[in-house]
Amino acid sequence: VAGDLTGPLDTFITASGRKVQLGIYVRAQDADKCDYAMDSLKRSMKWDEEVYGREYDLDVFNIVAVDDFNAGAMENKGLNIFNSALVLAKPETATDDDYERIEGVVAHEYFHNWTGNRITCRDWFQLCLKEGFTVYRDNGFTEDMREKNVARINAVANLRARQFGEDAGPLAHPVRPESYIKIDNFYTSTVYEKGSEVAGMLKALLGAEDFRKATDLYFERHDGEAATVEDFVKSMEDASGKDLTQFRGWYSQAGTPHIKASGKWDEAAGIYELTLSQETKPTPGQPTKNPQHMPVTMGLVGASGAALPLRLEGDNVAEAADNRVVELTQAAQTFRFTGITERPVPSLFRGFSAPVVVEDDLSAADRRHLMANDTDAFNRWEAGQTYGRDLLLGMIKAAQNNQPADEDGDFIEAMRSILLDESLDPAFKARALLLPTEQALGQAMDTIDPDAIHDARKQLSKTIATNLKSDLEACYENLGSDEPFSPSAEQAGRRALRNRCMGLLSTLDTDESHELAFAHFNSATNMTDELAGLSVLASLQTPHRDTALAAFYDKWQHDTLVTDKWFRVQATSSRTDTIAHVNELAKHPAYSLKNPNRMRSLVAAFGFFNQRHFNAADGSGYEFLADQLLALDKLNPLVAGRIAIVFETWQRFDEARQAKAKTCLQRILNQSGLSDNLFETVSRISGTEDLD
Ligand code: ASP
Ligand code: ZN
Repeated sequence: VAGDLTGPLDTFITASGRKVQLGIYVRAQDADKCDYAMDSLKRSMKWDEEVYGREYDLDVFNIVAVDDFNAGAMENKGLNIFNSALVLAKPETATDDDYERIEGVVAHEYFHNWTGNRITCRDWFQLCLKEGFTVYRDNGFTEDMREKNVARINAVANLRARQFGEDAGPLAHPVRPESYIKIDNFYTSTVYEKGSEVAGMLKALLGAEDFRKATDLYFERHDGEAATVEDFVKSMEDASGKDLTQFRGWYSQAGTPHIKASGKWDEAAGIYELTLSQETKPTPGQPTKNPQHMPVTMGLVGASGAALPLRLEGDNVAEAADNRVVELTQAAQTFRFTGITERPVPSLFRGFSAPVVVEDDLSAADRRHLMANDTDAFNRWEAGQTYGRDLLLGMIKAAQNNQPADEDGDFIEAMRSILLDESLDPAFKARALLLPTEQALGQAMDTIDPDAIHDARKQLSKTIATNLKSDLEACYENLGSDEPFSPSAEQAGRRALRNRCMGLLSTLDTDESHELAFAHFNSATNMTDELAGLSVLASLQTPHRDTALAAFYDKWQHDTLVTDKWFRVQATSSRTDTIAHVNELAKHPAYSLKNPNRMRSLVAAFGFFNQRHFNAADGSGYEFLADQLLALDKLNPLVAGRIAIVFETWQRFDEARQAKAKTCLQRILNQSGLSDNLFETVSRISGTEDLD
C-alpha cells in the first residue's frame, strides 16, 4: 500500500551525467534503517560503471522492502523487491554480517539490471547465465568494498558448505540443468555459486583485459535479447580468440573434480616436476565424466620463504613471473619448472582458481611454511585450514578407536603466530583462527560421525584457548573501543577478531570464561557484539544462558528481524538439550511457518547449521524436520522444496542414521497432496524419482 510506505530518497548522477531518482520504500517505523542500503546502491551503480562499463538506463530506481518474502530479493526492473532482512539495518539491530549481506544483495539485484533484465534468459535452463554471472559480479564488488582476501575466503567457504555437498550427493546437477519438475528447485548453490566460479575461471583463463573485452562484447551483442549460456561463452571466445570447446564441459557436467597433486624436485638438475591429475565421480544420470579445462593459478615458495620465478621448460621469456596460470586439460598432466635451486613448496589453485577438491602430498611443515610465507593470502588461510582439518581428522579417528590423540604443539604455535602477526588484517586473523566447520570435517570423512566431529573440534578449540589464553585476553582488551559505531570493513574486522577471541576463550568452559561472555553480552552497544555474546552463551551450561536469552527476547520482541536471531542462536546451539528446545520453540507464540524468515530462523538454521543435532542418533532431528516440512508444504511449497535439501547428505552417515532418515523421507513421500516442489526434492534425494 503505497500510502503507508516511506523512506529515503536520493539521486545518482550517471557517468554520462544523467540524473537517476533513487528511492527505498519501507514502513514508517523502519525509515531510520535504510541509509546503508541506499549507500550500497549508490556504490553499486558507480562500481558497475567503473568495472564493467555499465550505466543505469532509467530515470528512477526503487527498492521496496517486505517482511514476507521467500527469497532474498528480486530484480524487477526499476523496482527491486526485497526481503526486509536485506534492507533494514542500524547498529543496534544489525550485525556486521547483516551489513555485508545487505551491501552484497543490493549490489546483486542492481547488477541484474544488465545481467538479468536488459539481457535475460531464453529459457529456464539458462538460469546460471544471469545468476552465476551476477553472483560473480557481486562477489567482485564485495571484494572491492571489504578486505579482499576475507571476502574471497567467505565466498569459497560458502560454496564448499553448500555446493560441494550438493555436487557430491543425490541432487547433483550441472550448472546448466537438463531437466526439472519445478524450476523453483533449481535456484541452487550449483547454479548460483558454482556458476559464479565458472565465470571466474573464464577471467583467469582469458586474463583481466580480454575478459573485460568479452563482457563488453556480450553486452553489446545481446542487449535487449533473451540469450543463452552458449551466447555468453561465444562472446568470451570471439573477444579473446581462445578455444573454449572443452571448457563448456563446466556447464554440462555435474560433480566436483578431485585433483591429486604431487611434486618432485631434482636438486641437481634444478627441475621441479608438478603432476596434476583429475577425476570426477559419477553423478545421477552421468555415469562417465570427462576431464575439465581449468586454470591453476600457482606459485612456488622457496625454502627461504621467497617466491621463486616460474619458468616452464621451453618458456622463452626474459622475466619469469612468480605467480602464473597453468592450464589443466587432461586427466593427468606434468609441468616441469626449470631453474629451481631451492626446495619449493607448491602453492596451487591460488585464490581458489577452480572449484575443485585438492589432495596434495604436503607435510605439516610444508603447510606451516605456506601459512607463514605464501604471498597469496587465500592459500595462507587454506594451508591453515588443511593443517587443522588433518589434525582434527586424526583426533576423530583416535577417538573412534578409543585411543589418545596426538597433540600438535606446532599447530598451536602457528595459531599464535597468526594472532600476534601485526602485518595481518584483523578480519583475516578472525577468519584464520576459526577451525574448519563441523560440516567441512564431515565432507572430508567417508562416514560422517557428527558426535566425534563435534567433540574433536571442541577439544582442539579448548587446547588453543588454554595455550593462547593470555594472548587472546590481551587481544580482546586491546580491541575494545569507544569510537562511534561505523559499519566500515575496518571496524567490522576488529569486532570480528575481538569476538573470535571471546568465543575461543569461552571454550575453556570455566566460571571466568562464562562471566566474560555474559559481560560481553551485557555491555554490548551494537548487535554484532550483543549477538556474539548471546550465541556463545546459547551453547554453554550456565545460568547466564537463560538470563541472557530472556533479556534478549524482552528487549527485542517488537523487532521481527532481531527476534529471528533469537530463534537462530537457539537452533544452532551445541547444547545436548537443543532438540528439546527446538521443539518447544516451534510452539512459541512468536513462531510461525507463515513467515519465511521466521521459519528459516528455526527450521533451516537447525537443519543446515546444526550437523550434530539434526543428525542425532535417535532420529529426532530428522523427525522434527519432516514434521515442519510437511506442515510448511501446505502453506509454502516453494520454500518446502528448497529446505528439504537438508536431507541430501543422509547416505553419508552410518546405517542406523540412514534408516532413521529413510523413514522420514518415506513418510514425506507417502503424504497425500504433496506439492510438486517437495515431491521433486525428496524423491531425488531418496533416489526414487524417475524424470525420464
Ligand atoms: N532472481 C532472484 C535473485 O537471485 C531470486 C528470485 O528469483 O527470487 O536475485
Ligand atoms: Zn540473482
